[in-house]
Amino acid sequence: MQNNFTIYNSLSRKKEPFKPLHPPFVGIYVCGPTVYSDPHLGHARPAVTFDILYRYLMHLEYKVRYVRNITDVGHLVNDADEGEDKIERKARLEHLEPMEVVQKYINSYLKNMEQINILHPSIEPRASGHIIEQQQLIEEILKKGYAYEVNGSVYFDVLKYNEKYTYGKLSGRILEDLQSSTRDLEGQDEKRNPYDFALWKKATPEHLMRWPSRWSDGYPGWHLECSAMSIKYLGEVFDIHGGGMDLIFPHHECEIAQSTAAQGKESVRYWMHNNMITINGQKMARSLGNFITLDELFSGNHSLLTQAYSPMTIRFFLMQAHYRSTVDFSNEALQASEKGYQRLMKAVGTLDKIKPSLTSTIDIPALRKKCYEAMDDDLNSPVLLSNLFEGVKYINSLSDGTEKISMADLDSLKSLFSVFVFDILGFKNETDSTGDQKLTSELVKIIINLRQEAKNKKEWAASDKIREDLKNAGIILKDTKEGADWEKA
Ligand code: ZN
Repeated sequence: MQNNFTIYNSLSRKKEPFKPLHPPFVGIYVCGPTVYSDPHLGHARPAVTFDILYRYLMHLEYKVRYVRNITDVGHLVNDADEGEDKIERKARLEHLEPMEVVQKYINSYLKNMEQINILHPSIEPRASGHIIEQQQLIEEILKKGYAYEVNGSVYFDVLKYNEKYTYGKLSGRILEDLQSSTRDLEGQDEKRNPYDFALWKKATPEHLMRWPSRWSDGYPGWHLECSAMSIKYLGEVFDIHGGGMDLIFPHHECEIAQSTAAQGKESVRYWMHNNMITINGQKMARSLGNFITLDELFSGNHSLLTQAYSPMTIRFFLMQAHYRSTVDFSNEALQASEKGYQRLMKAVGTLDKIKPSLTSTIDIPALRKKCYEAMDDDLNSPVLLSNLFEGVKYINSLSDGTEKISMADLDSLKSLFSVFVFDILGFKNETDSTGDQKLTSELVKIIINLRQEAKNKKEWAASDKIREDLKNAGIILKDTKEGADWEKA
């Protein structure tokens, strides 16, 4: 399969041509959410980034298996190997079972993702459903000599691993620096070295989520699930692993170490990382009070928001920055995105009304080429959008008659917009799906009543003409005993 797609590989730190291992099949693994709170703007960014990747690869006719996990166990509050489990802490606060917390926030995550028009992944595996696979991976790492057991817990031996392989190759962190900068935290004296990390933790008596193992009743370390589930569903070596930049260290660094230690080779061929979102120039943090959930964005119900923003406005906002750049949230930026999105949708509506001429005064093949070049350049969505807005300018000039377009070029322009705006960038027409739909059904009802009046007066020609005109407009009338019904052709 031919493609000119290049992606920036965080491991090699350069753009590389995308060559899948077993074309036409492509395997993607993306680290999904830890489900203990309502999804916020930060969750939307990786979701949108890898949604576009997924959509574009499918457009290039690859058969993509897209795995996005759900972390429902083992992610501790301080992201290291100490402290409470994030989900258990929430369960205690809300007086819920940990799995009730998990279900509640999986539901809100999936609801929000659907609102932003994120396609469902092929598989959404949960860490708690793969305890056996994780234990098997620990056995494999122990057998190869890269882990050790202490008091019922198992830790990864970073120093030993680094003798044969390179720990820190993804993050660029060098072990010597880690050795001098990692403090000995209280309770970490079980580890041979402070930068070793847990593969299995023995549960304390008050710990709720626990499973039996030959080491202890306990739970897996946070990094382990992604190694175990990616190998299970995508094979020992697979094409693309994605996630937020904040996961590079320690999470993805540890994933590489685990998979390499167990298999003697690396799993991932291309590492892709999306950058972070700042809020009015500041880092997003609960402590700063600038954590905005997606529900709050959609309703406008947050002190930092001057209005509500629709899901497609959020999608547009995230798309007008390249996924590897930071993007700064502000009301001004969101309002600009809202205008941009509406301008794009208006042009799509105008495009339907354009009449062809015998010749074209605009170059559609050149526009099409530029759109593909933008996507092929490491998913350059801001450049793609600016190309599409060049198309919007054409559409407006065609509409007011200052430019002309041939039938073939018009078809090509329509398919270009349909493919790039809807299939690849994943926009949907929000006005279409709500306001316009309602208006259409009201109008059709009025027309049906007019036709009924004509029939009542035995004006058959008028009644038939209404039916024919509706049919030409794509609306099929069906006479039933209860009156006329209709559907779109
Ligand atoms: Zn992960």
